[in-house]
Amino acid sequence: MLYDTIAAPATKNIQSAVSVIRLSGEQAVAIGDALLGGKLSKAADRSLVYGKIRDKDGNILDDCLAVKMISPKSYTGEDTVEFYCHGGKTVTECVMRELLKNGARLAEKGEFTKRAFLNGKMDLTQAEAVIDAIGAETKSALLMAQENLDGKLRHKIDGLRSRIMTEIMHILAGNDFPDETGGNHNDVILSRLKVILNDISSLLTSYDKGKILKDGFTAAICGKPNVGKSSLLNAILEEDRAIVTDIEGTTRDVITERIDIGGYMMNIADTAGLRESSDIVEQAGILKSYQYIEQVDYILYLLDASKELDAEETEYIKKLPAHTVVIYNKTDLNTPKIPDDFGKKVYCISAKNNEGVSELLDGIREDIEARLEQSESEETLFSERHYQALLMAEESLQRAISTLRMNLEADICSIDLEDAASYLGEITGTTVNDEVIDNIFKNFCIGK
Ligand code: GDP
Repeated sequence: MLYDTIAAPATKNIQSAVSVIRLSGEQAVAIGDALLGGKLSKAADRSLVYGKIRDKDGNILDDCLAVKMISPKSYTGEDTVEFYCHGGKTVTECVMRELLKNGARLAEKGEFTKRAFLNGKMDLTQAEAVIDAIGAETKSALLMAQENLDGKLRHKIDGLRSRIMTEIMHILAGNDFPDETGGNHNDVILSRLKVILNDISSLLTSYDKGKILKDGFTAAICGKPNVGKSSLLNAILEEDRAIVTDIEGTTRDVITERIDIGGYMMNIADTAGLRESSDIVEQAGILKSYQYIEQVDYILYLLDASKELDAEETEYIKKLPAHTVVIYNKTDLNTPKIPDDFGKKVYCISAKNNEGVSELLDGIREDIEARLEQSESEETLFSERHYQALLMAEESLQRAISTLRMNLEADICSIDLEDAASYLGEITGTTVNDEVIDNIFKNFCIGK
């Protein structure tokens, strides 16, 4: 238990209907009482109290509702008080100042959640899910974050870790007490380790899904000059008004628009800003040279339906990755003759007249959903930190399995298994250092 008492506004410091101010720590009730004339200590735990907040000179700063939540039944696990004041910058500031005068300290970013973690109310996966839930931009991202907040990933990782610990025990017992344990059971242990390895590998594959749910998927509109790339982007943005923000892409000149298409965030780049060339070979070079395009989840390759498609471009399209769709634009001018050997989905649109664009977006959404369904794991990895730690655990487990296969020293094998268990512990926070913990909570806002 940490002993100082922290305070912070939990809502934004702007004019609003209600402002929530939080207080957590041993002195929370006493400090709350100082502002509310002793009403909190007399009130029942977790029931609302109405009272007037006064400063030390007796001036009324606000009338508010307040609640106390006594340890351990609170978010942080400590005694906590929440004030529901009138919204407004000055009310919030005056109440905060009074709390600080009475002995509270201004909370650091994420300190309430950090205390919840340190007091065992949640593990790191749950603490990180709090940020994911707050930052969720789509319903699908929110639902995934809530699953992790509910402890789904924590249980999975804890389960894997305890299965590895059990195998360490079996290996060491077989080694130290061969008579009592009937000696070497490497085959049985090996087969159980392989199942654990399989579970870890399948969880790792869920990161692709997690990334798409959390940050969205990336798409790029490519094609020769004047085929209508910018017009298509404009039509898509018209189509779906839920534009969240314009962000600078990772590559120079690539501007990405973020659009929610049916619950999935699409980061779509119009590559018109790239140096363009009518020479398809050179264009292929341009395409390759931009990291952003190489890495996108989805390529929208645009053709002009009013122009003849040459053999060179046909060949080029055939070679584009599987996650490419071919789009004939300007079908208001001409009905194109579509080769049947593209090996890609083909759409016909008119960006100018906004025809076929919603069908295109529906198709993209279906493709993304199909991709997400490929994940075998019930749990979803959301974070790069979890992914890296799990990769390390997988490697250590693979080494342990090789050692056991070769019937080498049991000690060597158990060291690798202990490493694997420790990497898993980093995910939940059991075996993690303070620096990592501090870094995680730095991403929180004040008051959370
Ligand atoms: P980009 O260079 O590939 O980005 O192409 P633009 O979007 O700038 O379009 C090039 C020209 O094609 C412009 O004059 C557009 O008005 C025109 N254009 C774009 N889409 C269509 C379409 O669906 N039908 C017709 N008829 N013209 C279009």
